[in-house]
Amino acid sequence: MTALSGKTAVVTGGSRGIGAAIVRQFAQAGANVAFTYARSGEAAQQLVTELEAAGAGALAIQADSANPSEISAAIARATQQFGQLDVLVNNAGVFEVKSLNDCTLEDYEHVMNINTRAVFMAMRDAAKIIQDKGRIINIGSNLAERVPQAGLTLYTMSKAAVWGLTKAAARDLGHRGITVNIIQPGSTDTDMNPADGPHADHQRQLRAIPVYNSPDDIAAMAVYLASDAAQHITGSSLLVDGGANI
Ligand code: NDP
Repeated sequence: MTALSGKTAVVTGGSRGIGAAIVRQFAQAGANVAFTYARSGEAAQQLVTELEAAGAGALAIQADSANPSEISAAIARATQQFGQLDVLVNNAGVFEVKSLNDCTLEDYEHVMNINTRAVFMAMRDAAKIIQDKGRIINIGSNLAERVPQAGLTLYTMSKAAVWGLTKAAARDLGHRGITVNIIQPGSTDTDMNPADGPHADHQRQLRAIPVYNSPDDIAAMAVYLASDAAQHITGSSLLVDGGANI
């Protein structure tokens, strides 16, 4: 018996990076995992093949988080495939660096639709069908709590909104034993923020432990929050940022 055996999870943006690490660790912990992707169909199918070869139930669904009806359809399809929904992880996200002066309405809609509106829509849909004692885990950012440089207005706003949504939803769903939490990663080595990128040294200097997170660091926290052991953790923000925000 492993931490998530018998559970079904949906992870948005599971084809690469932090999302793919969460998908893998959830499957290793015994869950059936459905995950969405937007463009990386090949990587998504490879991940399904890998998980199925290891004996896990896996399903990749193309669903653009910018499109609410695609999110709804993905949650419904995953639930139909595996018979129930126990865990929702809202991970899909985009990063945008632009000064406030230069932000257009299109920029606003792009970032907010994927990073914020999609999370709200997925949570609203999931809340109707998720099992009692279910889990909702949002992937935010430590930049929602502290902004160490310029150019982060849209991204920080989008993630701070998800933090507020997390706390409020924890109140709405707590009577069913459903927990709602947000993991706030710091710099994590992915395509979005490679540890050998041009701004990586600056980010390392912000941390008490001057080493990038690996995606598995975030996935381990997600597995814990999804497990029965975390039943009384709700509305919480879990920083995984090597001490950048202390
Ligand atoms: P990556 O860019 O490496 O991966 C992003 C994932 O999200 C991919 O699977 C991608 O799918 C998916 N995705 C992006 N846009 C959409 C969309 N419109 N619809 C559906 N899926 C989409 O990012 P990370 O793994 O680094 O980031 C994951 C989360 O962690 C994000 O919410 C990010 O904001 C957050 N985060 C990351 C940090 C970091 O330093 N890396 C730090 C703090 C927070 P596809 O492959 O199909 O494009």
